Amino acid sequence: MHKHHSALGLASSLKPVQPVTLLRPHAAARAARFFVEKFQGRSMYAVKANPSPDLIQILWENGITQFDVASIAEVRLVAGIAPDAKLCFMHPVKAEEAIAEAYFDYGVRTFSLDSLEELDKIVRATKGATDLTLCVRLRVSSEMSKLSLASKFGVELADAKELLLRTRQVADALGICFHVGSQAMSPSAYVQAMEKVRAAIVSAAVTVDVIDVGGGFPSVYPGMEPPALEAYFNAIHQAFESLPVSYSSELWCEPGRALCAEYASLLVRVERRRGDELYINDGAYGALFDAAHVGWRFPVQLLRDGEPRIRDTGFSFYGPTCDDMDRMAGPFVLPGDVNVGDYIEIGMLGAYGCAMRTGFNGFTAGERVIMTDEPMASLYIDDDTQRETVSHNVITL
Ligand SMILES: *Cc1c(COP(=O)(O)O)cnc(C)c1O
Repeated sequence: MHKHHSALGLASSLKPVQPVTLLRPHAAARAARFFVEKFQGRSMYAVKANPSPDLIQILWENGITQFDVASIAEVRLVAGIAPDAKLCFMHPVKAEEAIAEAYFDYGVRTFSLDSLEELDKIVRATKGATDLTLCVRLRVSSEMSKLSLASKFGVELADAKELLLRTRQVADALGICFHVGSQAMSPSAYVQAMEKVRAAIVSAAVTVDVIDVGGGFPSVYPGMEPPALEAYFNAIHQAFESLPVSYSSELWCEPGRALCAEYASLLVRVERRRGDELYINDGAYGALFDAAHVGWRFPVQLLRDGEPRIRDTGFSFYGPTCDDMDRMAGPFVLPGDVNVGDYIEIGMLGAYGCAMRTGFNGFTAGERVIMTDEPMASLYIDDDTQRETVSHNVITL
């Protein structure tokens, strides 16, 4: 893969016809090391956020040794790249065949569940294994998160007692897990969830060996600037310390977005301008699913030499397919004279961007290149350095 030092240089020398994915391995490595060093527990990567083999390799090499997988395909994928990684099958509703294959062929010992039916399924599929770590997924509020995960999975607190007691009888190690929703904008989301965990432990009076606070750690986007990740870690560490769990119990987390958002951005070309609408060559069926369907605003910058002579305008985007729904409302703020043939970098697409791409209507991913510059925004660069390195492209809002 070619290495490039700036998106502008890349756009002007290559003039790519298809969208180009810009990869920043150093940013993913930095995020991994941050979690490994500062989270006082085990950080496992939630593979669904971005299953690129190159990313999994980078995280593995930078100290992420545990992976949250949700399908048998993800189990096979990670096992193929990092055979020594510890895999945790954290989808609460699994196919019995998937559980069996994960257990017998891939050595997976950790599974999550949120119902007695799933517990029975795990026992059957593993032929009554006695070496399981079973994590009961508790339903918690998503009110402080941008994307809710509160309705589909998780046992209600009122029903948790029976499930915890029954799971305790089967499990070698018993865990409690939850997910506060993606892009949690306040550490108190975790504190509140931990209060529910406490109530569940107290009512069931069971010994708990693992507390898994799930994902939800934020990244930074226009209009969404979360507190520093340390504030999240501190709140979680404090809440964990005060839980009635055994002295040897472990603390786990499952970051997806926070480990990979900065890993990738996208270089797109404007194919048409109609008023404040730009027709670009990637969209809802490409890496911009969240921009289209949940109105996510990603940072953008026009790749053009020199200072813009005209003031900024808020644009919406149309993607390349012939579908009306292939529209990203934005607003995406760019110099007002942006036009056909211009290149735009759309940042922070490493999480739930690249992973969502389809080949609908014949529009597929173009080239992937490695960049050595910094991502358009970062939660891992301290303020002073950030100002120097990205001052030319800070998100203005
Ligand atoms: C999606 C998911 C994650 C990752 O969530 P982020 O918000 O990306 O950190 C972690 N755990 C489970 C069970 C998930 O479904």
